[in-house]
Amino acid sequence: MKPVLDRALIWFRRDLRADDQAALYRALTSAKQVFCAFILDRDILDTLPRADRRVEFILGALQALDEDLRRLGGALIVRHGFATDEIPKLAAELGAQAVFANHDDEPQALLRDALVAERLKTFSAELRTFKDHVVFERREVMTAAGGPYGVFTPYKNAWLRKVDEFYLSSYPVERRTHAFAKTTLAKGVPSLKDIGFEPAGLTEHVGQGSRGAEALLDDFLDRIDQYDEKRNFPAVKGPSYLSVHLRFGTVSIRRLARIAHQLMQGGDHGAEVWLSELIWRDFYHQVMHHHPHAMGAAFRPEYDGIAWETGEHADTLFQAWCFGSTGYPLVDAAMRQLNQTGYQHNRLRMITASFLTKDLGIDWRRGEAYFAQQLLDYDLAANNGGWQWASSSGCDAQPYFRIFNPTSQSEKFDAEGRFIRRHCPELAGIDAKAIHAPWERAPLAMQGVDYPRPVVDHAVARERTLARYAVVKTRKV
Ligand code: FAD
Repeated sequence: MKPVLDRALIWFRRDLRADDQAALYRALTSAKQVFCAFILDRDILDTLPRADRRVEFILGALQALDEDLRRLGGALIVRHGFATDEIPKLAAELGAQAVFANHDDEPQALLRDALVAERLKTFSAELRTFKDHVVFERREVMTAAGGPYGVFTPYKNAWLRKVDEFYLSSYPVERRTHAFAKTTLAKGVPSLKDIGFEPAGLTEHVGQGSRGAEALLDDFLDRIDQYDEKRNFPAVKGPSYLSVHLRFGTVSIRRLARIAHQLMQGGDHGAEVWLSELIWRDFYHQVMHHHPHAMGAAFRPEYDGIAWETGEHADTLFQAWCFGSTGYPLVDAAMRQLNQTGYQHNRLRMITASFLTKDLGIDWRRGEAYFAQQLLDYDLAANNGGWQWASSSGCDAQPYFRIFNPTSQSEKFDAEGRFIRRHCPELAGIDAKAIHAPWERAPLAMQGVDYPRPVVDHAVARERTLARYAVVKTRKV
């Protein structure tokens, strides 16, 4: 295909890599000269605390991206300002006829993009956007009747029927590098200090940008066949830990899904189950597209009739949950893992979310917001989906009368108490039998140990929750 544009600008957002990148490839095939930019968007950054792991991760990823682009003949222009101002300004300065970017379907991002498109039009430039972040997006997987899927299993089956080499093949950026343009506007990546932030302590294992993703993927591929057996046990290395890289696009979803799909076709059950998790990710993204109302309210409106606990006591319980001092060891270890590392194991996200909503009776939106602040891999669609699953208000959620027992979950998924001891060192001296409910079985050993008694009695809380949720039966909308 012959390029028809003289100059184009590629605007990186949640796709911080220089390989298999849809918008980048399209720009390189459509224009004779392609400039690259990332905006450290003040619309987002100004709302964050001054120490935020994600900002640190992004700067590292930009550093790696800039190096990769320079190796290919380009360079990254990084600006700190409002994207809605900076992108049109930069496009005008460079004489770009089009700005290329990948879809971001979060409601705020859609508003931002609409404004950028409008501003570009004032000087006859346009915004062109492409699918990159998921395998199937928006209306690509629909029911036979033409509606969106609301239940995961039939969605997954339809996804698997539709997927083929075409959807999983990569965009060969490396074949189009002649169009990369250099510019003196690319002055390197600013430091945290330059943009008014402080170090937040990024855990080493996530690595720097796409290089970090590569190392994690290498490590995971050696054990992907055991994913199904190990993924539920937080003390062992079971999952891939790639979520932050998927969130910021430092690894291509097509590449991961292709690998998993091929292994699955060769009979690898672990890869099959892992692919299913990647499909959950697509599922929640299409839920966000079709049901944007669910990004702030219950997917099932009758669940908004639930009377959650509020007031001083509820606030104290919420604080105990946030800081890992509920007296339920696995819940506390999980919340401390989140606070210390920005990561929380999937099984533990289900347990802590269930505990907040169904043991403490606190509105899922408070937990969702806390996760949004703390998670390095925070993603609106997946986080909202996970919270609505746990609180039973989501499209394909766990039924409200299924209430996780935090003690039996602990006995089942951290039987030896290894994960608990790692994050709650004050319980190091408690044996494996007693560690899940130390107030019951180890009162003597607990003397002198600075660890709280349970903030609620699970059996009592369970009854209260069943009564609280009864409203959804009468208010069905
Ligand atoms: P792996 O087990 O290796 O899975 C591979 C990838 O599949 C993940 O990286 C992720 O991109 C995707 N994935 C796995 N499980 C899910 C799922 N249930 N829903 C959607 N995608 C999934 N995931 C996020 O990426 N961001 C979030 O903000 C987020 N918030 C959550 C909140 C709650 C209450 C719950 C229950 C789950 C949440 N998840 C979220 C989903 C899941 O917990 C994480 O994706 C997973 O723990 C990340 O670890 P991993 O990369 O090692 O996962």
